[in-house]
Amino acid sequence: MTTIRLLPPTLVNQIAAGEVVERPASAVKELIENSIDAGASRIDVVLVEGGQALISVTDDGGGMSPDEMELAVERHATSKLPDDDLVRIRFLGFRGEALPSIGSVARLTLTSRPKGAESAWSLSVEGGAKGRPSPAALSHGTRIDVRDLFYATPARLKFLKAPRTELTHAADVIERLGMAHPDIAFSLSDASRKILDLAAKRGEAGAARLARIAQVVGREFEANALALDAERDGVRLTGWAGLPTYNRATAGAQYLFVNGRPVKDRLVIGAVRGAYQDVLARDRHPVVALFLELDPEQVDVNVHPAKAEVRFRDSGLVRGLIVGAIRHALAAAGHRASSTVASATMGALGGHGGANTGHYYPPARPSGPQIRAGIQAQAPLGPVGMGLAEALPGLSLPPAGPASRGDIVEAAEVESFPLGAARAQLHDTYIVAQTATGLVIVDQHAAHERLVFERMKQALAEGGIARQGLLLPEVVDLGEAAAARLGERAEELAKLGLVVEGFGPGAVVVREVPALLGDGDVSGLIRDLADELAEWGASTALEERLLDVCATMACHGSVRAGRRLSIPEMNALLRGMEATPLSGQCNHGRPTHVSLDLSDIEKLFGRR
Ligand code: ADP
Ligand code: MG
Repeated sequence: MTTIRLLPPTLVNQIAAGEVVERPASAVKELIENSIDAGASRIDVVLVEGGQALISVTDDGGGMSPDEMELAVERHATSKLPDDDLVRIRFLGFRGEALPSIGSVARLTLTSRPKGAESAWSLSVEGGAKGRPSPAALSHGTRIDVRDLFYATPARLKFLKAPRTELTHAADVIERLGMAHPDIAFSLSDASRKILDLAAKRGEAGAARLARIAQVVGREFEANALALDAERDGVRLTGWAGLPTYNRATAGAQYLFVNGRPVKDRLVIGAVRGAYQDVLARDRHPVVALFLELDPEQVDVNVHPAKAEVRFRDSGLVRGLIVGAIRHALAAAGHRASSTVASATMGALGGHGGANTGHYYPPARPSGPQIRAGIQAQAPLGPVGMGLAEALPGLSLPPAGPASRGDIVEAAEVESFPLGAARAQLHDTYIVAQTATGLVIVDQHAAHERLVFERMKQALAEGGIARQGLLLPEVVDLGEAAAARLGERAEELAKLGLVVEGFGPGAVVVREVPALLGDGDVSGLIRDLADELAEWGASTALEERLLDVCATMACHGSVRAGRRLSIPEMNALLRGMEATPLSGQCNHGRPTHVSLDLSDIEKLFGRR
């Protein structure tokens, strides 16, 4: 065994750099944070070869004297903990590690001139060796140049990705810090061109912030996001939650801040996922910008060298606040589907405003067998009120007006509703309605599925799902393993309104179904449930998958595409959607309807 020794400072700094400077973007983050802490109002970043050849950050902040520069590149030297208080941290930095770490793995040059100083000075550190300050040229502020990043640590050099990739990471860092500080101007350039140019946004804080977010996420963000403002026990949450239909393939557009600091904190990310759980497919992600403010005593920012994760003292409170505020906002938004749905439609129709928005709606579930003859016979399309309870379970119809008034008079009244007056059904699948300012196209299956789902959730919350006996119990052939799986779960399923018994080898008989499902597709439902039970495994209680079970039931219990509806039935569905939280999308995040403004339609025909 060799003797124990204290490591030389350069090695210590290189070890610290391993955590703090993982890649060029992390150096960019540290340097920008320093500029923000120095009170800058404009910060310009240049990256050459993805930051490997050069990272240069220039600010117009307070600057440093030559003496201060000499101290700044020493380990654990900081101006940001004046009273040794690690709890009430008022700056983004506090560890005093960034500059010495960078100086130990790269060639670092600081050039700075405080306001009022006669000239600028510069100081270099190369692979840990500090030079002497020498006169330089710079108007007030600070420029930090980092050349040949990782030249002193070849192992790390190998992990650098293509310059384009590193540039993208750096842009993301700047965008996130930029959202937290809309009053500061930021730019990012590479050797030849400007990649990011965020002008300073002044004025009221909320408006400035929203304007900055729109600079980053896109101008359509505001129209597709719901404002949040909630407080619980001293924790405040503000920001915006994107509509479910305005979703992305990755979680990259989730911008999270704790006391003005961008974080990628697992607790917060998990809370966002929980909030959107039953309005988005699992592989789709919402766009959100969330700003949490709380007493510094309630959160520890000193748990991660790059300060990306934090620790909340009361994590349950924070999670509950986020989930509650987002769910509440989504519920209040009711039937809204995102405006990008309309612009994508316009694009498909050949109109303007239809640039590919990059949003995607998961494909519809295969809708199983179309309505069976037997069901049609039970629910004929007769006069209003007849057979409708079965035809559209979960909906109540307004009493029909005197026959002589006809649909036209009624239509004029209902056009003032957000989803307007039903005028026609196309291909036995889509409802077309006229509104005061345009038209709405509704996917009848997706819309009704959502309504049934929400009613089931409500019934569950209120203590139970009412059951309804089937006049003719339905026998479903499944195969032995699947039938046995269902048999084992019979008790749990009965609590959810589904009464199933074994029926010889490989089959089950369904005797009762949730009343809300009406005459849905019973055998399709049983088959899907059997598949899901296999996937979840025997150890998962149905209680835990309640929402999934409800979703499956809703899918099979709702009115199929291919079912002809009368005008009153269609209007009942529209009114139901308006009254139902979250009805803008089905539970896979697909829109249930598209709204087109007359102005959009006029554009299509060149009238505008
Ligand atoms: P920390 O930010 O944690 O204090 P750093 O190593 O990043 O540690 O910086 C050390 C010190 O150098 C800071 O505390 C600050 O006083 C000074 N400094 C760094 N960058 C700047 C800058 N752009 N403008 C003014 N002072 C700076
Ligand atoms: Mg710092």
